[in-house]
Amino acid sequence: MNNKYDKQNIFAQIIGGKIPCDKVFETKFSLAFNDINPKAPIHVLVIPKNEYINVNDFSQNASKDEIADIFYVIYKVVEKLGIKDSGYRLLSNNGEDANQEVPHLHFHIIGGIARK
Ligand code: AMP
Repeated sequence: MNNKYDKQNIFAQIIGGKIPCDKVFETKFSLAFNDINPKAPIHVLVIPKNEYINVNDFSQNASKDEIADIFYVIYKVVEKLGIKDSGYRLLSNNGEDANQEVPHLHFHIIGGIARK
């Protein structure tokens, strides 16, 4: 796997304000926005604002404040969207074998699918 961060990736462009996003929540360290191709009624992506490729990179190199913040933002999003108690999936594709498409760490929050 190539461990060098690609500064041109689409999420870097969103963070840099070069392309827009449908923002759901934001802090100093993290940004949450709606997925452009939602797989469920609620499909939000949560990303760190600094340059991390994946969970490995983030876990090793992010500050404790950044790591705490991303989970704070995940919590605030599910609270805001009303799925905190009904349930949701939290997923992060990491690396080639997981078919990670965008090489900037992101957590998918997937919800709003009714129980059977
Ligand atoms: P992954 O396969 O985990 O890397 O997922 C990448 C996700 O990013 C997919 O669900 C895409 O629909 C989503 N995506 C790609 N470009 C954008 C964009 N400009 N705004 C919002 N979501 C995007």
